Amino acid sequence: MPSGRVHNLINLAVYAGLSAAALYFTQTQALVITPAQALSFTLGYGAGTLLLSPDLDLSEGQVDSKRRWGPLGFLWVPYGMMFSHRGLSHTWILGPLTRLVYLALIAALLWGVVYALVPHTLLPYSWLHPRVPVNHQFLGFKVAYPLLAGYYLSQWLHLIADGIRPDHGLRHSGRKARATLRRFR
Ligand SMILES: [Zn+2]
Repeated sequence: MPSGRVHNLINLAVYAGLSAAALYFTQTQALVITPAQALSFTLGYGAGTLLLSPDLDLSEGQVDSKRRWGPLGFLWVPYGMMFSHRGLSHTWILGPLTRLVYLALIAALLWGVVYALVPHTLLPYSWLHPRVPVNHQFLGFKVAYPLLAGYYLSQWLHLIADGIRPDHGLRHSGRKARATLRRFR
């Protein structure tokens, strides 16, 4: 199994290759990539490589991607306890999603604690009444999709380096279902 360092090097090399290709194709005007799209893709890719690696399923112990969270690394311990190494966390579609949902739940929980404990007079008005005008098209094509694309690509490179095929989850659950059936026969 490749170490965290090897995974990072692979992702960095692919990113360098993609950047060179993107630069070439935008210069020949075969492709139009806005700075917002490039930045969003890079942020998703970087976060997926360094902070949200599938190996967070080992966070009940010590692992690179947990260490990178610094003092917040403990937040991933329950995730490591919930997910077995290279199980659901290492599937192609649901795996990366589990970490996004987990992160959203933690953020909501922290926000709830702040909201309950800190006197409202101390919080900025805009925190309590967030009212951001949303331009959906901007968010979709310029930010959200490139962000997601960068994130998922970084995760898939990790899975490829681990030697895990896209049907990993299906085969896994198929094996489990067959084992259960055998027990009842
Ligand atoms: Zn892995």
